[in-house]
Amino acid sequence: MRIDVLTLFAEMFTGVLGASILARAQAAGKVDYHLTDIRRFTTNKHGKVDDRPFGGGPGMVMTCQPLWDAVAAVEQEDPRKATRIVMSPQGEPFTQRIAEELASAERLLLIAGHYEGIDERVIERLAPRQISIGDYVLSGGELPAMVLIDAVVRLIPGVLGDDESAIHDSFSPGAGRLLDHPHYTRPRAWQGMEVPDVLIGGDHAEIEKWRKAQARQRTKKLRPDLLTDHEDEDI
Ligand code: SAM
Repeated sequence: MRIDVLTLFAEMFTGVLGASILARAQAAGKVDYHLTDIRRFTTNKHGKVDDRPFGGGPGMVMTCQPLWDAVAAVEQEDPRKATRIVMSPQGEPFTQRIAEELASAERLLLIAGHYEGIDERVIERLAPRQISIGDYVLSGGELPAMVLIDAVVRLIPGVLGDDESAIHDSFSPGAGRLLDHPHYTRPRAWQGMEVPDVLIGGDHAEIEKWRKAQARQRTKKLRPDLLTDHEDEDI
């Protein structure tokens, strides 16, 4: 997969894309990150990429031209068709299901806004998917883009080893789209708290049953919205 990010703050990505699973995925040839500074494409002689809003009001708005030209130039670099995504608090809420869907794309092109946002006309012309990482407002689309990249890249086949498989994580199909069960490791007793006996016994069918029950209980307690009416009856 190729992932392009169009941003005014490319330097924000260095640490996140250069460490841990995201870096390993690139080293293994599973993904290629390409960061593009939108400012490089402005035709404004002062290097401006924003301007005051028509109608007045606070803040600045990202202008159409630099972003439009940046998208055109970057898309030409590779014949694979890019899924265009603008990070926006007004977009569809990002979920594990969307991450799964995007993990099979050949190419993603993420656009990070800044200031008050992006001139609506260029969004209309680009006709991207718009994705929000939650009902709160951040200063820019860079952190949301990194969140999306992390959630998607770990789902690309072969990125996580078998030991780390994502299939049983919370919200994932292997967890029945519920929350994950609790996890324990050594030591067996810590500050007077024992690991549940069933996990020590070696009876894999019992362990599986216990984990499923735990997952359902904590989902009911912490995130009842994840349970369908039918599932709720089984508890
Ligand atoms: N005026 C905009 C509004 O109220 O909808 C907010 C603009 S925000 C300060 C600047 C940029 O940050 C946005 O263009 C978007 O790219 C990004 N952003 C902020 N919060 C976000 C969120 N929850 N999800 C995705 N992107 C977000």
